[in-house]
Amino acid sequence: MRLILLGPPGSGKGTQAQRLVHKHNIVQLSTGEMLRAAVAAGTPVGLQAKDIMAAGGLVPDEIVISIISDRIDQPDARNGFILDGFPRTVPQAEALDELLKRKHMKLDAVVELRVNESALLDRVEKRAAETRARGEEVRVDDTPEVLVKRLASYRQLTEPLIHYYSERRKLLTVDGMMTIEAVTREITRILTALGAVEGKAAPTAQKGLRKAARPAARKAGKVARAAKKTSKTARKAAKSTSKSKKKAVKRPTRKAAPKRAKKLTKKRAKR
Ligand code: AMP
Repeated sequence: MRLILLGPPGSGKGTQAQRLVHKHNIVQLSTGEMLRAAVAAGTPVGLQAKDIMAAGGLVPDEIVISIISDRIDQPDARNGFILDGFPRTVPQAEALDELLKRKHMKLDAVVELRVNESALLDRVEKRAAETRARGEEVRVDDTPEVLVKRLASYRQLTEPLIHYYSERRKLLTVDGMMTIEAVTREITRILTALGAVEGKAAPTAQKGLRKAARPAARKAGKVARAAKKTSKTARKAAKSTSKSKKKAVKRPTRKAAPKRAKKLTKKRAKR
């Protein structure tokens, strides 16, 4: 199973990714986590990313793309992965399409966690308090000021991915305001309907997905319907082409029949 979790900071991507990892024996590939590890280890990438991350900006595309490309090749990612925090821009999504194609891999779905922005500040503050309570260090970018910047960056650069993936018929939207447990259940239900995880077989996917993707369909409805219409027209065109091809193949046989009959008559006459 290969999945992207899409959502603003504090929408629960990390939490859901961890739960899905345990449930489906796949790995979570979080560019934020990998970059934080690089910063902590003081690697060249870490040194480049440190200040950008602290200010809530985006690390250059080539860095994150190369991190993800290398990580996908690791043996533990063979069974599947959840991308969390990547892609974050349309160029990153295009680069991902390209690199998956090169690696002969297919994306199963993009799950968008939709949340009310007003709840995000509370969530991030809660996350910081919980981290402090565990005696761990709080993320430097988990402050209200930086969150505002990260949210603005999400709206401007990452939200266009909703359109990008809905056009490609990959997007499924889940209400991220439900409880953690309910969100996991809903994501699993969607993935099962898709046939991406064991359970119900894929033929029921369309029925299941129609229900699951309802909120997404509402927003991206026009685009999705237009895409459907286009693919319907394409299917019709293909059908009529194949019909005319069949006719074209049949015609010579019909013509050939009298020839055979003539030959037989000649042979009989000779006899
Ligand atoms: P996250 O843990 O996903 O919230 O990411 C934390 C920070 O890491 C972000 O605010 C960015 O500075 C950086 N980062 C993570 N993923 C990406 C990405 N795909 N592209 C650019 N920067 C990223």
